Amino acid sequence: MESSNKPHRAHVLVLPYPAQGHINPMLQFSKRLVAKGLKATLVLTVHLAGSMHADPSSSIGLDTISDGHDLGLSAQAESSEAYQTSLRVVGSRTLAELIRKLDRSGQALYAVIYDGFLPWALDVAKQCAKLGVVFFTQTCAVNDIYYHVQRGLLPLPLSGTSVEVPGLPPLEPSETPSFVYKLGSYPAFYDMAMNQFENVDDADFVLSDTFYELEKEVVDWMSANLWPLKTVGPTLPSLYLDKRLPHDTAYGISLFTPTTTSNISAWLHRHLPRSVVYVSFGSMADLEPSQFSELAHGLALAGCPFLWIVRSSEQHKLPRDLMDSIPCEEALILPWCNQLEVLASNAIGCFVTHCGLNSVIEAICLGIPMVAMPQWTDQSTNAKFVEDVWRVGVRARTDEVGLVGREEVERRVREVVGRGERGKEMAESARRWMAAAKAAIGEGGSSDRNINEFVKELMSRASIE
Ligand code: UDP
Repeated sequence: MESSNKPHRAHVLVLPYPAQGHINPMLQFSKRLVAKGLKATLVLTVHLAGSMHADPSSSIGLDTISDGHDLGLSAQAESSEAYQTSLRVVGSRTLAELIRKLDRSGQALYAVIYDGFLPWALDVAKQCAKLGVVFFTQTCAVNDIYYHVQRGLLPLPLSGTSVEVPGLPPLEPSETPSFVYKLGSYPAFYDMAMNQFENVDDADFVLSDTFYELEKEVVDWMSANLWPLKTVGPTLPSLYLDKRLPHDTAYGISLFTPTTTSNISAWLHRHLPRSVVYVSFGSMADLEPSQFSELAHGLALAGCPFLWIVRSSEQHKLPRDLMDSIPCEEALILPWCNQLEVLASNAIGCFVTHCGLNSVIEAICLGIPMVAMPQWTDQSTNAKFVEDVWRVGVRARTDEVGLVGREEVERRVREVVGRGERGKEMAESARRWMAAAKAAIGEGGSSDRNINEFVKELMSRASIE
């Protein structure tokens, strides 16, 4: 058992990009650092800190910077480009102010651990004479591709039918991140993905939210050729992995209001083991109404009970007539849930996912095979790995207008929940990866060793500089 009562030897600030999928892994990593004797303070934007649901008993301190929108952001009023600029300019200034405030208060602040999406935080850390630690919240495979693009080693637009990137299997263009193969689709996000690498060579440590065994080839390539990379994941609450952090049972910060857990468990308990399909597209995906309709029909055709997370802002896109015709025992539609608790339920047999990295890693850690329906950003690459490399799921193919049709949904769900060869193989791979994920973060595992080394090296560098 590790203790979080050791005297605090050093204080680190941990700065995620202000979105659920980035806060979760960095908050969890902070808990690991606290368990190893550091003091960690999570830094959120003023607006998020005021609007989230947080666990008041958390061992992690909380502080804020400003993104220039302390009262919240109206999506219509602000372009992504303008928001990124405001986050960088106002964020840099207020992060420097926060560091100075902590210095004045006599706290031994040594390092800023920043999300790769916020490279300006490294410049601020250096200006304030602190160590700068980049924490990548996407897979090494995805970062390897972005790195090669950013350094001009993978020229865009992509040409030919196969994309060759060192450390990776050959990829079809559509298996690279959407910002790469659909050039110009989201310029602000493209810039954010590429800017991760503009100053990364100056970072004192490079950490990645994955685990060695999952991405061995690319981690080896990057470590040998780019920087000494430390994989520190998976970053799920300890309860779902090694159980060494006694109170770490949930992420502890939610930007959405989850439905009461007991209602969901009661519903799940009424179903047979491995019979329920869980469907979620995460916190940001914006599906077309026609895709909602095809998905709903496909799920109904597959004939398995399903639990579908449809955020409140998306619920008007559901095909009402169809949904009303399905009995409540067969379909539960909720705006948000505690996804980990759901995936950990014995009733879940398949996860229809957009392949956000957190969701994929959560499914891997909990041994749930997937139907991959990637939407944008890194999800296409994650989906490729889910199907062809980790072999824990199948991709639902899109038609000529980019839609996954109802028959395709039905076919893929049946493939995963079915008892055919492929279904059995996926279930077996899922079990193997679950064991590997737990071993990686468990005592003496690859990520546990990397976190120990990181803490040790941080302490020794901090006492020298
Ligand atoms: N999540 C949740 N409840 C839900 C849907 C999602 O707690 O109803 C969590 C999920 O467990 C994951 C995160 O939200 O940790 C979503 O991150 P991901 O990288 O999968 O997708 P993103 O939201 O970044 O697109």
